[in-house]
Amino acid sequence: MPASSAVTDADLALAEAARQARENAWVPVTGFRVGAAVRTADGLVFAGCNVEHPVPHEGSCAEKVALYHAVAEGHRNFEAVAVVSHNDPPATPCGSCRQTLDHWGIRRVIVAHEDGRTQVFDLAELLPESFKWMPEPPTPN
Ligand SMILES: [Zn+2]
Repeated sequence: MPASSAVTDADLALAEAARQARENAWVPVTGFRVGAAVRTADGLVFAGCNVEHPVPHEGSCAEKVALYHAVAEGHRNFEAVAVVSHNDPPATPCGSCRQTLDHWGIRRVIVAHEDGRTQVFDLAELLPESFKWMPEPPTPN
């Protein structure tokens, strides 16, 4: 899949935060470690890792952990998310996370491999027809 734009130093820093968070992934079911980090509009970084649970659908993706970590700290405006895995090619956000990123207005999606290979996508490439449950979705406040 072609990347949409050039990788910046800020993208690499966000991917590094995601890479560090990946070390804390709790993955007793699959062993599939993922780290993520979001950058707020004012440049703060919040990281997360995937957290699995033996009961399907009770765990959470790294992207949501990172995003909700920032939301819990009072942030509502975001610039980018980075996701790091060991997949080859590196794993892009799952469908549910893509929809969540869309809701929170996160357009810049940095996808990196554990070895450092990094690509940047626009969310519209990954989720061209996002689900809209009303003409204008509620704006997070
Ligand atoms: Zn996900």
